[in-house]
Amino acid sequence: MSGILIVDDNPANLVALEAVLEPLGEQVVKAGSGREALRHLLDGHFSLVLLDVQMPGLSGFETAAIIWQRERTRNVPIVFVTAAEREEASVVSGYTQGAVDYIVKPFDADVLRAKVASLLASARQNESLRREAAERTRERDELLEKEREARADAENAVRLRDEFLAIASHELRTPLTPLRLQLQATIRQLRRGEIGMKDVEARLEAALRQTERIATLVNDLLEVSRISMGRLTLHPETMDLAEAAREVLERHEPEARNVGCALSLRAESAVGTWDKLRIDEVLTNLLANAIKYGAGQSVEVAVERADVTARLTVRDHGIGIPREDQERIFDRFERAVSVRSYGGMGLGLYVVRQIVVAHGGNIRVQSAPGQGSTFTVELPI
Ligand code: ADP
Repeated sequence: MSGILIVDDNPANLVALEAVLEPLGEQVVKAGSGREALRHLLDGHFSLVLLDVQMPGLSGFETAAIIWQRERTRNVPIVFVTAAEREEASVVSGYTQGAVDYIVKPFDADVLRAKVASLLASARQNESLRREAAERTRERDELLEKEREARADAENAVRLRDEFLAIASHELRTPLTPLRLQLQATIRQLRRGEIGMKDVEARLEAALRQTERIATLVNDLLEVSRISMGRLTLHPETMDLAEAAREVLERHEPEARNVGCALSLRAESAVGTWDKLRIDEVLTNLLANAIKYGAGQSVEVAVERADVTARLTVRDHGIGIPREDQERIFDRFERAVSVRSYGGMGLGLYVVRQIVVAHGGNIRVQSAPGQGSTFTVELPI
């Protein structure tokens, strides 16, 4: 609670002042000098200071100057108590520029009390206004800070999206351009009678492989946008994981053959309730990665059923993944290889994990550089 500080070098005056103020019911603290007053003001909180002007040592004016200099007490109102001379009174009013009041000695007790009471009231009102203003300033600063953060987030999202669009269009163009050229050349040569059915068949197979890659890419892109909008809804149906694996393997046979990679499948029936198209995506992404990063070595796929869990493993003997990258490759846009050596958007494993997790399953990888990688997916049946 804040009170009144009275300062006078004459102890009798202090006692008299205290008696006059007593009926106000305020806490009154006495100080016998300017120095003592400053000490009280250091750790106490006062709503008003009554300050004798003529004191030995620090005068009332000098004391006031120090009070106003201190940040903590800058706003504490001061009432100067001056001798009766008119001159001094005018000095006081000039000095204070109307910021505070003065009382001329000898004073009338009632007038003094009334004056102090009204000064106290307005001082406290000012105080609460100041506190409110400070609170409002703080709130405004907080709001500005939040706005700044939101803007930074939005800018970041826009930057990420732009980067993503640039990579996505590049990645989509990469398989499309040779595909178009191949098909154009095939038509031309076929018209001129330069190639036979056998060549046409081989080229169409190659073209089919390219469209597979584009389809996977487009699928991943769609999934990512669905996931980021929180719209990954599953359409579960009864299906056999072994069956799905066989289908996906068959589809990748030509692509694997093309890079000299032998695919093998060891599968026992594992019937569960899953989203068939999504499980196909999981298999497709994992197998395509195994072939892509498999350095032309064999790839083994296995499906096992253990109790209430179906386990899928896709194992290659390719470039492998350094330990420190094994977690982040499941995040969006994260890659552990350079674009120059391997194309890609870093979305496949992200989509795979999101789908697996949406099914209540989990995925992990075991790998070492140059030692190949084994991805293991577990799905509750
Ligand atoms: P992308 O293949 O388009 O880069 P993915 O999300 O499918 O995107 O994979 C992320 C990264 O994980 C790849 O860039 C690669 O560094 C690493 N990776 C994924 N699968 C394998 C694998 N079978 N062998 C080695 N590295 C892999």
